[in-house]
Amino acid sequence: GLRVGVLALQGDFREHLAVLRGLGADAVPVRRPAELDEVEGLVIPGGESSVMDKLSRAFGLAGPLRDAIAGGLPVYGTCAGLIMLADRVLDGIAGQQTLGGLDVSVRRNAFGSQVDSFETDLDIPAVGGEPMHAVFIRAPIVEEVGPNATALARVDDGRVVAVEQGNLLGTSFHPEITGDTRFHEYFLTKVRDAVQKAA
Ligand code: GLN
Repeated sequence: GLRVGVLALQGDFREHLAVLRGLGADAVPVRRPAELDEVEGLVIPGGESSVMDKLSRAFGLAGPLRDAIAGGLPVYGTCAGLIMLADRVLDGIAGQQTLGGLDVSVRRNAFGSQVDSFETDLDIPAVGGEPMHAVFIRAPIVEEVGPNATALARVDDGRVVAVEQGNLLGTSFHPEITGDTRFHEYFLTKVRDAVQKAA
């Protein structure tokens, strides 16, 4: 199977490993630069982006991750992972950095503190089929999509919650916990294409 890493510093990386393994991928946790070198694609899970940022720098992973993204490694970020992939964060904590790669501006706690978790159904033409049930947990919103990125899904009021740019994919919500594997399959297609291109 495809060798896909899941950044395992913090957050719900186990759920992503399980989904990827269920789809036949050879999914492995990534905590060290040497482990990053071994993978053909990477998922950055949900969690807390400010903590993930600090840990990735403390573990010496932030630089190698930026290099891998610049080198075309397919990377899929969910929720905090989307924040990590965003070029701009509108409400990061003091000194919060991201890896970047997606030409978007995100707002971290965009859905407010009262209704900070909710579920809804989204139309996502890129992955096909029925509307997708999406779970948002203290989710970020994409407030601005720059010219290099494409919006893939919006909630009812038009705000963007899924984006793509080349080999990068990001969702505000968490497909790893709903049993709907279409986003992970879509991501694995990108990984497979990148592997074939490199061969
Ligand atoms: N609000 C969190 C953050 O800023 C993201 C929440 C999540 O990943 N479920 O990182």
